[in-house]
Amino acid sequence: MINIEPIGIVRSDFKDPHEKKVSKSGAVIEIYPQYSDALLRLGEHSHIWVLGWFHAAVRNVLRVRPRINLDLPEYGVFGMRSPSRPNPVGLTVTKLEAVEDNLLYVQRLDFIDGTPIIDIKPYFEQDIIFSPRTPYIKPKEALMLEEIMMKEALYHHQEECPPLLLGIKMCLAAERELGQLTASDVVVSVTGPSCLADTVQGLTRARLANPPRFSFHESGSETEVRWQKGSRQVIVRPRSDLDLSAIKEQSYAEVLEIVTL
Ligand SMILES: [Zn+2]
Repeated sequence: MINIEPIGIVRSDFKDPHEKKVSKSGAVIEIYPQYSDALLRLGEHSHIWVLGWFHAAVRNVLRVRPRINLDLPEYGVFGMRSPSRPNPVGLTVTKLEAVEDNLLYVQRLDFIDGTPIIDIKPYFEQDIIFSPRTPYIKPKEALMLEEIMMKEALYHHQEECPPLLLGIKMCLAAERELGQLTASDVVVSVTGPSCLADTVQGLTRARLANPPRFSFHESGSETEVRWQKGSRQVIVRPRSDLDLSAIKEQSYAEVLEIVTL
């Protein structure tokens, strides 16, 4: 027998677990006063692991389909992070914006309002695995893929600059043509500003070596990203009349010139 007492609760405007949005704006984790002492120096960390308890989850299911695309085949629940599992422990990593008394202000928490929190742990630099092997679970809706890329790009690059927004559109275009961009046979070459290179590298997880998948030529005048997968090539460039300030609202096809070879 294991007894777990919640140490806090989520306060968020994210209330409906069936809502299809992945990323959410800020949330607050309220730590109960008797645990306040445990927050000493947590604020030295920029990111934290949050463990919650999905109290409303189904616990007698061992196989599920990916929630972001119910057309895909099933996985065992230990190969998914579905709330449905024998012990419905939720695990997520989030950016810690501020600690004020017993309140943790966090970014983009994917736990709904009222989720009991059972533990908080710091995220350490050595936790990172830059290019893990993961199955390709493509969301059914294109918009969701863009949201996931936005979240990953921000985790990697840490600022929402115009080249980051352009890089996301470029990766969306390439993904459409080549499929999973993190695959080990996808090679990418970036010409342009370093913020663009950083964003594309973060989203494709392409390393400079072992295997060599990434190259970069810094340029202030020319912007182009080339992807290669086997004999297929995709080249994307911003359209000459592109208005970077409106890029977020536009689709990648409106923003880019796409050449496939
Ligand atoms: Zn930047």
